[in-house]
Amino acid sequence: MSKHSLERENRELKRSLRLLASKVERNEAIVKSFFEMEIRLLSCTQLSELLDLILIEFREYFRLDAVNLVLFDPEQAARTLLEDYVPPPPANTLRFVENQRLLNTLYTDKKLVVGEPDDSIKETAFPGSHYILSCALLPLERHNCIIGSLHLGSGDPTRYSNALMYDYIKHLASVISICIENCINYENMKRMSIIDMLTRVNNRRSFEIEIQREISRASRSEYPLSCLFLDLDYFKLVNDKYGHLSGDRVLRTVGGFLKQQQRKSDVVARYGGEEFSILLPNCDELQSVQLADNLREKFNALIFRSDKGEPFRMTTSIGVSTCYPATYTRDTFERLAYNLISAADKAVYHSKAAGRDQVQFVATSGSENPVKPNLEVV
Ligand code: GH3
Ligand code: MG
Ligand code: MG
Repeated sequence: MSKHSLERENRELKRSLRLLASKVERNEAIVKSFFEMEIRLLSCTQLSELLDLILIEFREYFRLDAVNLVLFDPEQAARTLLEDYVPPPPANTLRFVENQRLLNTLYTDKKLVVGEPDDSIKETAFPGSHYILSCALLPLERHNCIIGSLHLGSGDPTRYSNALMYDYIKHLASVISICIENCINYENMKRMSIIDMLTRVNNRRSFEIEIQREISRASRSEYPLSCLFLDLDYFKLVNDKYGHLSGDRVLRTVGGFLKQQQRKSDVVARYGGEEFSILLPNCDELQSVQLADNLREKFNALIFRSDKGEPFRMTTSIGVSTCYPATYTRDTFERLAYNLISAADKAVYHSKAAGRDQVQFVATSGSENPVKPNLEVV
């Protein structure tokens, strides 16, 4: 072999080696980015946090032009947890389906779909995003059932090609499926421990935790904190006349009504059988008594229905108490919470004794009342 041809061969070998080395480097970077994302996915405990990671950060991190997600949510479990969640733009980044029809049109054999999307796939997987020229559609599977579908889209026609293997994104899809299931289970469990399942407002246990948290917050911000106790009047008669199921319906309606009436910062709870409690941060005696009286009037206007559809009205007796900044340093938060609850409870008792369907105020022990409300004060 001549010296020249040896040199040429050497140059070509070196070039191939450089290409190979850069390919290895690129693959290493891809593996690293997938690993990093996997760890972030696994550390999410809230569904909204997980969705933000997938719908917002995936786009930037993997340099994509569209990331859409469809969740199979037949019992609205995900939607209930996502009540306050606003998906990122554009429209349709997050969709919920109650049957498998849409998912079945995308996946015939639960397998990844990659390549150039035809018009029907574009319309189904990326509605409104006509600029998608290549895509990867990943079925999200748990326990042999498709629980959703993740759509990664790119304006680059060479980005996803069905000639390539996509083991990493397949793996990522498995991780995402597990994370979605875990977040829903975790959040549901957390909710069940703080929510009263009949009325869907907080339960007594969480109210007792919240009251101390609110006292601590009120003490730091030096504002008053008020507490309302509502006890439905003659509720037992509803059970006696219309049956226990109708009584349950009343309690559910009252829970919904109170949630609808509450300000964002208020805490509404079912304290006992037909007793509800509300915490009103930054609300003094006068404001809370007025608020309670408005609530009482609106309550009187509610029309309840028995389980057979018979309409009836009810009334409620309300007790109010208030804690003032001057008292916060005098006692432990636990003791202050106890005083606030006892005073509100006593005030309900006075409302009942004075004929029901009214609001009464009782001062917490050791607190001063700087403003006298113009309603009856005991
Ligand atoms: P008052 O005006 O004095 O408050 O009269 P009341 O009938 O509302 O009060 P009482 O304490 O005599 O009765 C409360 C009733 O609430 C008795 C109990 O069976 C009923 N109750 C408690 N929890 C539930 C529940 O979860 N569902 C139903 N349907 N009834 C309940
Ligand atoms: Mg009662
Ligand atoms: Mg009652």
